[in-house]
Amino acid sequence: MRSLGELLADAETMHRGRICAGQVLGVRMAMLGCQSLGIDEPTRGKRLIVYVEIDRCMADAIAAVTGCRLGKRTLKHLDYGKCACTFVDTSSGRAVRVSARDDARSHVWHYAPSGLDKKTTQCEAYKIMSDSELFVVQEVVVDIPDQDQPGPPVSRVVCAICGEGINDRREMWLNGQALCRACGQGGYYRNPENKIESFSSHPLPVT
Ligand SMILES: [Zn+2]
Ligand SMILES: [Zn+2]
Repeated sequence: MRSLGELLADAETMHRGRICAGQVLGVRMAMLGCQSLGIDEPTRGKRLIVYVEIDRCMADAIAAVTGCRLGKRTLKHLDYGKCACTFVDTSSGRAVRVSARDDARSHVWHYAPSGLDKKTTQCEAYKIMSDSELFVVQEVVVDIPDQDQPGPPVSRVVCAICGEGINDRREMWLNGQALCRACGQGGYYRNPENKIESFSSHPLPVT
């Protein structure tokens, strides 16, 4: 495993700017996750899949250290709003979930010189606090379905309402018709004129 300093430098480059507490925590979390699985060089090969439960700075640091990427399907984002990640070793099937302890931030003042502002104090402390003060590690089981695995798409259908293609079984079925999630249950986007045409404004029941 490369050193904390080298990995922080990578995270910083990816983040285009100054290192922040979230990135330090993310780099430490990724190092701990990989070490717990006995993975020394996480960026080599596609052995590792990471489920990241937040979309803040930490997520970029996790990606920088592990080399896992959304586009490679080795990085999965779950919108839980939690500072936690699960690291899955696809060669052994082992998985560990690492979550950041909420009480870690109340201990940072013991680990940094006094007189620093809160953010710098957190940054400096998170570099040197012990793994057990920062994180909780649990062995977990993750069943990764075919349609979530790296590799070519396992299926592709066309949405009966908008006509757009849907990969990897993300469609829903209504009265024997395939619908994309946006049409079937309402999407995050809508037609600016609020016309229904190709956009469904009401969630439809799934069959
Ligand atoms: Zn940041
Ligand atoms: Zn659709």
